Amino acid sequence: MTDSALDGVAVAPTVLDVVNALDRRYPREWADSWDRVGLVLGDLAHPVERVLCVVDCVPETVDEALATGADLVVAHHPLLLKPVSSIAPDTYKGRIIHRMIRGDVALYVAHTNADTANPGVSDALAARFGLLDLRPLVPATGAAAGEGRGAGRIGELPEPMDLAELTGFAADRLPATAAGIRAAGDPARVIRTLAVCGGAGDGFLSAAGAAGVDAYLCADLRHHPASEHLAGGGPALLDVAHWATERPWLDEVAAWLHGQFAVEVTVSDVDTDPWTVHAVNSSEKEILP
Ligand SMILES: [Zn+2]
Repeated sequence: MTDSALDGVAVAPTVLDVVNALDRRYPREWADSWDRVGLVLGDLAHPVERVLCVVDCVPETVDEALATGADLVVAHHPLLLKPVSSIAPDTYKGRIIHRMIRGDVALYVAHTNADTANPGVSDALAARFGLLDLRPLVPATGAAAGEGRGAGRIGELPEPMDLAELTGFAADRLPATAAGIRAAGDPARVIRTLAVCGGAGDGFLSAAGAAGVDAYLCADLRHHPASEHLAGGGPALLDVAHWATERPWLDEVAAWLHGQFAVEVTVSDVDTDPWTVHAVNSSEKEILP
């Protein structure tokens, strides 16, 4: 027991303490080989009193970190995925880096290692639907194999509903975005088993088909893969704004951090999805509620 603990004075953890805890929960070797995760910048010895959890480290969320006095930003998407030869302050990412270092704000990224973790990003998404009996859509292999880890989650809806109802339910259960939610398939199709994947889900269309689920919800679906998947008899599809599929995880990781350390943890509700306007032809009724 330290002197300060004897005095009943809480000692703020350092950046290193929080990074070590995050690394234990989201081991870096669980990330895909192309991914770049872990500590991006920050003074390891700096005390952490406030943490801000964000999907994207962009100028708007850096503004939020500086305004709220955050000492550490935990982000889902990597700031620096590709190698750079300059972080000059007249570049987009260089400016972010300079502002964070000047403001003494560290940056930590948990991306595909947080996707595959159990609980991970898709568990938080599945929880918004109350899905039961969760299992991975694509079980992890290699370092992350076992214990329910893997990409996406499959579960049973508490009550079956048709695709039109599920689309409206998803719109109510997930954070609102300008893009909203669109669905593909027969609106009357009854959905009992749902697969969900936080983030871009094109790559798991065939896995969703092979798993025999009734519907698959993810982000960033495209015309040809979606059309061909449906033509092949695959599950109905729900296409959600990328940010909205990953925002639920921020609450989960924030609650966990708060339980680990005597720190104030806040979650950013800055919608970092690029789409800002949505319209339908005013002479047409929307097909789905
Ligand atoms: Zn993502």
